[in-house]
This record gives sequence, structure tokens and C-alpha cells, in this order.
Amino acid sequence: MRTTIKDAPETQNIPIIFVSARGAVQDQERGFNLGAVDYITKPYELSILRARVRTHVTLKRKSDLLEALVSLDGLTGIPNRRRFDETLNNEWRRAIREQIPLALIMADVDQFKNYNDFYGHGSGDDCLREVAQCLMEAVQRPGDLAARYGGEEFAAILPDCDKDGACYVAERFRNLVAERGIVHERSAVAQHVTISAGIATHAPTLGDLSEDLLKRADLALYHAKWNGRNQVYSGVIELMPFV
Ligand code: GH3
Ligand code: MG
Ligand code: MG
Repeated sequence: MRTTIKDAPETQNIPIIFVSARGAVQDQERGFNLGAVDYITKPYELSILRARVRTHVTLKRKSDLLEALVSLDGLTGIPNRRRFDETLNNEWRRAIREQIPLALIMADVDQFKNYNDFYGHGSGDDCLREVAQCLMEAVQRPGDLAARYGGEEFAAILPDCDKDGACYVAERFRNLVAERGIVHERSAVAQHVTISAGIATHAPTLGDLSEDLLKRADLALYHAKWNGRNQVYSGVIELMPFV
């Protein structure tokens, strides 16, 4: 069991119940140490076995649900910061192993403080839900991850994606938000809600830190804001070279 089910990522979370004629304490102990959730000795009552399986299936469903919930943002229902950090960490290591580039998009709703102040916090929340939906729609590849990074900031991880690809996704996100036409009377940028986005891409090698790519994407976002908002910035960020 150790070298098969419990070692493979696809199967390691499957609960295992041992059904065995070996009923000695040491045998049972060994089963549990290998990761079994239960150990039933033969001969057994079928009705009891069924009841135990039912219990474990219920527990498994609950723990899966809980695991899914801790990775989702409560307001928008899309992946949260925790999931973003986890995915970035995994994808970064994979990009190093497979020598492929990784792209990050950092996006932020323009003049959202004014929106909240003018339309109220409830409308602000509704707006964030809509923006989140646009991001989910814009980010389409199965390996991509879109997330609410925090507040009115959103982010996407695009594995094996170059700058052009990332720009395409970010522009699609920007356009989808604009097309919703969420009226924003207090925006100096447009008459509707808009977003700005920054892009950073890198094919990491051993020793490179994903935090540096995040900083670059953040700086690119800052450039987009500084250039007038409602745009995507993907220019070279020179301030933070990978060493
Ligand atoms: P900029 O164009 O430079 O991004 O300006 P901004 O007003 O969007 O930026 P700022 O950081 O000043 O304001 C962010 C606002 O986002 C302030 C805060 O009240 C609001 N905000 C953050 N999280 C939430 C949330 O969960 N719900 C609501 N309704 N508002 C939020
Ligand atoms: Mg912000
Ligand atoms: Mg903002």
C-alpha cells in the first residue's frame, strides 16, 4: 500500500479500510500506520462492514467539502489568496523542473474607494462579484488559476504562458469588465467600472523566487495605474532583476 496508493497524489487521499483475517494487534497497528482509516477482521458481519464504509464515505465527503471551502473566497466564490499562494508555489517549482515560463497578472479595480463611498458597501460587494466572474471567464486554460488576491485586487497564474498570451488574457478581462457597463459616476477614468492590470513573465531557474515575479507584476500594475488606469501594462520592469 505504501508504494502504490499512498504515494501517488491522485490516490493518496482515498480512505482505505483493511479487511483481513490477520487480527493480531500488531497487524492492525501496521494497517493504521500505513494510513488505513479502519481495520476489520474476518469473519465480519456484512451489515457492520456496510455501516463502517458509509461512515467513512460521509466523513470523506465532509472533509473534501471543507478543504474546498478553505480555498475559496467567501465574497466572490472564486479561489482565494491561500489557494493562489499554494498554486504559485507548486507551479513555480514545476516551471523550474520543466524549464517553462510562467506568467502572472495582477489586477485592481480603478477608483473603487469612490465607488464604495458613492454607492455603498453592499453595491461595492456586488461589483466585486461581477469583476470576479469576468476574471473567471477571461482565464480559460485548465491549468490556469484566477483568484481574489485581497480587497479589490485580483490575480491570475498562467503556467507555460508567454507575455503575449498573458496580455491577451488580461485584455480580455479588462474588456469583459468594461462590457458589463457597471455604472461608476465617481470614476475619473470612464463612466463605468474599469480595471488596471500588470503582467510579469519569467522562466525560472533554481534559486529564483516567485516573490520577485509577484513584485514585478505589482510594479507593472502600478505603471498601468500611473499611465492613466483602465489599461494593461506589460513593459519591462527593470527595478527588480532576478539575480
Ligand atoms: P486605484 O484606482 O488607485 O486603485 O484607487 P482605489 O480607490 O481603487 O484604491 P484604494 O486602495 O484607495 O481603495 C480600495 C477600496 O477597496 C477601499 C476599500 O473600501 C475597498 N474594498 C476592499 N475590499 C472590499 C470589499 O470586500 N468590499 C467592498 N465593498 N469594498 C472593498
Ligand atoms: Mg488596491
Ligand atoms: Mg483600486
